[in-house]
Order: sequence, then C-alpha cells, then structure tokens
Amino acid sequence: MDFKEYIRVIPDFPQPGISFKDITTLLKDGEMYRNAINELKQMVADLKIDVIAGPEARGFVVGAPLAYALGVGFAPIRKSGKLPGATIEAGYDLEYGKDTLAMHTDAIEKGQNVLIADDLLATGGTIATSINLIEQLGGNVVGAAFLIELNDLNGRAKLPENMNVFTLMNY
Ligand code: 5GP
Repeated sequence: MDFKEYIRVIPDFPQPGISFKDITTLLKDGEMYRNAINELKQMVADLKIDVIAGPEARGFVVGAPLAYALGVGFAPIRKSGKLPGATIEAGYDLEYGKDTLAMHTDAIEKGQNVLIADDLLATGGTIATSINLIEQLGGNVVGAAFLIELNDLNGRAKLPENMNVFTLMNY
C-alpha cells in the first residue's frame, strides 16, 4: 500500500530547511488510517506486548489505536507538568534548548513488555528518552513502531542495538 501518497510534505516548517512530513492528510482518510494501524499491528504480531507507550501528541494518534487493536494498555508519555499523578522525568537536548518528558510512576509494572509508538523517527531523541523512562519504571522495551522514519537523521543509532524497529514509510 502506498501510504506515502497520503503524507503531505511541507517545506520550511517549522523552520527554514526542514521538510515537515504532515500526517494529518493520512489521518483524515478513515480507510488509510485504519490500514496504517493494521499494517503496524501485523508488523509487531510476533512480539509479546503488555502495554504500548506513546509520546505526546502524535504518539497518541498512532499508539492508542494500535493498543486498542492489540487489546493491550496504553501509557502516555507527556511533557513535564501535564500528568496529574506522581511522575518520573527525563530530559533531552533539542536542536535549540532542552525538553523534558514524564510518565506516571505506576504507568508500567516491573517486567512488563512495552512497545513504543510514535508517528515519526527523526534524530531518535524522543524515543531514547522514552526508553530511559520506561526502563526506570522496570519495563522491558521490546520494540518501537513508527509511521515514518527519516533515514538520513539515523535515529536508529540512538536506540539500543538489536532493538526491533518497525516503520511503514522511509524518507
Ligand atoms: P526525534 O526526537 O526523533 O528527533 O523527533 C521525533 C519527534 O519529533 C516525533 O515525536 C515527531 O512527532 C516529531 N517530528 C519531527 N519531525 C517531524 C516531521 O517532519 N513530521 C512529523 N509529523 N513529526 C515530526
């Protein structure tokens, strides 16, 4: 299935030189959105998954329907200050400045197998930080699933060697 036909590429967003992959044009097509989630579901079918964790906001759009389709739980990974309960946090460097991600301390039980889901793998900073949080909670990251991977940014290099990485589209 050519999912790329449904991705809108917007030059110079959010800043000059960045070619932004806009997934909203895929999401608004009900059949293709479902096809994309179903394809990811098939890709991860051999893994034993207890819970899916997804970083806000687009990780929810991929991770929550995938969790529903698999019949497993969903754990949100949020920016600092958004979650109401007790949290753990981990910071990471952005191109300009820093960001902090947080999870509830009870989002994952020790020993649970966790799949991370997001819309896009770029430099890998978001996912490396997500792995850090999940492992602090005692979770076992069994893989990561994305709609899109930007190959030139080599995000896989920031992830543990041998980690299962699944992507529908490569740019
Ligand atoms: P990374 O941390 O791997 O450098 O960046 C990935 C994160 O940034 C993802 O959570 C993703 O939502 C966002 N992101 C970066 N570039 C793009 C893009 O071109 N399109 C979309 N949809 N998200 C992007």
